Amino acid sequence: MLSFLKKVADYTREAVDAAKYLTQGLAVTFDHMGRRPITVQYPYEKLIPSERYRGRIHYEFDKCIACEVCVRVCPINLPVVDWVMNKETKKKELRNYSIDFGVCIFCGNCVEYCPTNCLSMTEEYELAAFDRHSLNFDNVALGRLPTSVTTDPSVQPLRELAYLPAGTMDPHDVSPTKPRAGKLPHEMLPLIQNKPNSESQTK
Ligand code: SF4
Ligand code: SF4
Repeated sequence: MLSFLKKVADYTREAVDAAKYLTQGLAVTFDHMGRRPITVQYPYEKLIPSERYRGRIHYEFDKCIACEVCVRVCPINLPVVDWVMNKETKKKELRNYSIDFGVCIFCGNCVEYCPTNCLSMTEEYELAAFDRHSLNFDNVALGRLPTSVTTDPSVQPLRELAYLPAGTMDPHDVSPTKPRAGKLPHEMLPLIQNKPNSESQTK
């Protein structure tokens, strides 16, 4: 008799658990049924990268002095600076410069430490290729100006989801003048600068 009652109790508990998990799963489904789709219809729509996005590196051959600082600060010594010493002028002559974006981790160290600012990070993020060797950009490819999402007439640019106004889930019809949920870097700076000052003044 006792074993029968135990079986009934176990069966009832399992049935209650199954109903609970089923309800939880359906609650998620019903919750999402009420939301608007936020899928970006790439490549017809593209997100506008954020202000400090670290995309494909742009390089200006004429400004480069072949100092190789970019190579030394790169965690994988990636940039290849091809130069020869001109014995008459006793100066370096730059022949070629290349960065392999199949290996680059886009840390931005080379851009940060270049003494002549001939390197810069662009908002270009479409670097997919069938052959990984084609990602090894020489100075001509690196010197190409980046394509911008906002200036491409065949693309509808969308504001990044993280920068949408509070409560907005659809980036399609948001006015650029509408206030964002988060703060821009230039809005954050005074807050960050004031915080330690006010703390040190109270000490
Ligand atoms: S650090 Fe700048 S100037 Fe020096 S070799 Fe690299 S790209 Fe050229
Ligand atoms: S972004 Fe970083 S990994 Fe890429 S070349 Fe520059 S220093 Fe090297």
